Amino acid sequence: MAAPWRDVLRDEAAIREAARVAVDAALLGGVLMRTEGEPNASDVVNYAPFTLLPSAVPSALFDQAYAVQQDFNLLVDTISQNKEFLERTLASTIKVDDFTARLFRIHMQVLEEGLAQSVFLGINRSDYMFDCGADGTPALKQIEINTIAASFGGLTSRTAAVHGQVLKVLGKSEEALRLLPNNPSKGLALGIAKAWELYGSQSAVVMFLVEEVQRNIFDQRCIENELWNRNIRVIRKRFRDVFEKGSLDDAKRLYMDGQEVAVVYYREGYVPTNYDQQNWEARLLLERSRAVKCPDIATQLAGTKKVQQELSRPGTLERLLPGRPEAVARMRATFAGLYSLDVGEDGDKIAAMAIADPDRFVLKPQREGGGNNLYGEELRQVLEKIRDSPERTSYILMDKIKPQPANNYLLRAHSPLQVSECISELGIFGVYVRQGKEMVMNEAAGHLLRTKAIEHADGGVAAGVAVLDTPYLV
Ligand code: ADP
Ligand code: MG
Repeated sequence: MAAPWRDVLRDEAAIREAARVAVDAALLGGVLMRTEGEPNASDVVNYAPFTLLPSAVPSALFDQAYAVQQDFNLLVDTISQNKEFLERTLASTIKVDDFTARLFRIHMQVLEEGLAQSVFLGINRSDYMFDCGADGTPALKQIEINTIAASFGGLTSRTAAVHGQVLKVLGKSEEALRLLPNNPSKGLALGIAKAWELYGSQSAVVMFLVEEVQRNIFDQRCIENELWNRNIRVIRKRFRDVFEKGSLDDAKRLYMDGQEVAVVYYREGYVPTNYDQQNWEARLLLERSRAVKCPDIATQLAGTKKVQQELSRPGTLERLLPGRPEAVARMRATFAGLYSLDVGEDGDKIAAMAIADPDRFVLKPQREGGGNNLYGEELRQVLEKIRDSPERTSYILMDKIKPQPANNYLLRAHSPLQVSECISELGIFGVYVRQGKEMVMNEAAGHLLRTKAIEHADGGVAAGVAVLDTPYLV
């Protein structure tokens, strides 16, 4: 891949000056995070980590990622309505993975009672890396789709201006002009506003369901502010608040403190540590309600790694989306090799293959949020230990994507300025709204580029590994 900043990277004094400008521009421009020490107060804040320079992204792959997003929106939404598919696909997983099993039980219970919800809102982010083939040609390969709590749509809208200024300081004014504007939070808010409108109660509010620890609040505020600008009231509550103060009326309308809730937007609830018994009860209450959940529990399940692996099997996409061969082809072109470790002869062969050549693969449990995957020697050791146990079915195996690294500086508060060899991950935000059976909105809402040093195999921005970036199309 092209390395557009080779010349500026040589001038250390200029880089130092640019980094000072960059940090102040980030603070002024709202690329913000609360601090680790005070995660629930805004008295002291810092800049969210970001790259000094925008990273090169092949424009053909960037366009390809945008072009396939509506297909993925449709696919996720279709899976969420296919009870048999979810049941069959997750059958082996829920035997061994308690978290997925609990989500699945709520899903079944809500279906048995009959869905009260009739408007559906999906906000997802499909993530990709640029796999470097044997001949050096990069290819777009999907890492995963996040169907719950996909973050950084707010902060990422503010990085292009920072990177534009950095490029100007470094004498690259023309290049600065080429950075694309990007505002996912606006698109996501439009989806939430549409769902709110279709819910049909002027006095009802949008509830952001948030974590106990809220370091990334500014990212969420970007979306909240877009809603307030449209005169839609937003409240922020935790599962605990829902347990204490949430209720349903006879028509399963959801109330918080006497206030009707039209839309529940989850920025929480995607990992086991988000739940104790009361939180599970709160989740069940929300799912049983008529409020628009973003996502509903079926859509959350559609985003599991096990579903992703099943989608890559020949014929699965075709069966889910009959009569849409072009969409199927566009999606399939982005799939990396994915393998089931289900009990049986095929799974045995896959486990043996990974143990023999661990550097070719990534071993993934059914978890979100970064830092859970296994690589290399660790992958081999874990797989050897569980190869003859049903526990192995709680994992999927995936081909390891190998992008071409490029040099950049990762700017983090209290960290020394030093050059790193980096790789990037591109995410495209999708938003869609369905009323009954009819799709009334299906859009790509913007992008997110995250970059990390190559020595970290895993982990996102919130996990402290990756940093925010802006694509520079080449
Ligand atoms: P999570 O749900 O925890 O975010 P991901 O599937 O996104 O799980 O994996 C976390 C990180 O691990 C990714 O952001 C990426 O950096 C790395 N990763 C995941 N899958 C692969 C892969 N197939 N090849 C290379 N790196 C990967
Ligand atoms: Mg991820």
